[in-house]
Amino acid sequence: MKQRISFYPGPSQVYAEVPIWVQEAYDLGLLSANHRSSEFMSMCEKTIADLKEKLEIPANYGVYFTSSATECWEIISQSLVRRSSIHLFSGAFGEKWYGYARNIHPESIAHPFDMNERIAVDQLKISKHTELIALTHNETSNGTQVDMQTIKHIKEKFPELLIAVDTTSSLGGVIMDFSLADVWYGSVQKCFGLPAGLGVMICSPRAKDRALAIGEKKHYNSLLSIMQQMENFQTNYTPNVLGIFLLGKVAANMAPIRQTHDRIHKRYLDFNQYLTKKTEIHHLIKDKNLQSHTVFPIVADPNIILKLKSQASEHKLALGSGYGDLKASTFRIANFPAVPDEGFDRLKLFLDEHLS
Ligand SMILES: *Cc1c(COP(=O)(O)O)cnc(C)c1O
Repeated sequence: MKQRISFYPGPSQVYAEVPIWVQEAYDLGLLSANHRSSEFMSMCEKTIADLKEKLEIPANYGVYFTSSATECWEIISQSLVRRSSIHLFSGAFGEKWYGYARNIHPESIAHPFDMNERIAVDQLKISKHTELIALTHNETSNGTQVDMQTIKHIKEKFPELLIAVDTTSSLGGVIMDFSLADVWYGSVQKCFGLPAGLGVMICSPRAKDRALAIGEKKHYNSLLSIMQQMENFQTNYTPNVLGIFLLGKVAANMAPIRQTHDRIHKRYLDFNQYLTKKTEIHHLIKDKNLQSHTVFPIVADPNIILKLKSQASEHKLALGSGYGDLKASTFRIANFPAVPDEGFDRLKLFLDEHLS
């Protein structure tokens, strides 16, 4: 029987090994283990060590657990910003992040840019009251990415500001140069191929120093409390132990990020090549330098999209819906590591059969 394959960009295709790993967690007694126990602490320590190794996270960066990427939006404003952050965004997720920041600090600044344009770093002006620059590395709603070169350029132009990067739909899928920014975060239901309910937040020494300097401890998940507990591989509250265990399994079993990156990049090039042969569907973003490698936004006539989505589900393929304003005019294809290569073969065959 053909397995159902999901191309939704979150929640997304989970690894086929998930049921086996859940069973293993149960058999180990981890699911009933106290989160102050040595079993939990060593499992947590190993998960972080494997993540650091596989993703090439610098040794002096901290890795912390939250409940979601959304929670990271709040933690950043609460614990790393006193007054104002500036939000550079071209799509719905970056804009949402700005909304959360503004709720906490009304002086937060929005700097929207067109999804078909690169961030004009040279023209960027930032007031002296701004403490942090917020970027969405992979804008899941419109399938664009901000490349590392641009982040580097921003860092060079504003060396005294903290930089925080939302990598929710790219962390674990493509290489990041973590030295270029201070906070990188994501959640596990995208490129880690796991069920939702866990966020990962990666902090530079500079971010940790800022949290200490601000000393904010008003929230159950203030970064300072998270950092202090994590010195013992513990959390403030009873965490998603199963989620951390599953993330540890993915980290232990995944290829080093350079290999994963190459596999994802090859599939991206291959699918773009495929799209050039189709007349009824095309990529939403023309400039290749702006295209995401992990989320492909595909434009088509709304009637074709409706038809394709329902026919795909008969073939046990789930095409991702368009997001927000792009709901009717696009569908999305997640190019996440847990989607098997065979899934893309099936997708192309399906599209060949249903399009001219
Ligand atoms: C999915 C997503 C989020 C939200 O993730 P949650 O785990 O639901 O909080 C935030 N930012 C981006 C870019 C996303 O793709």
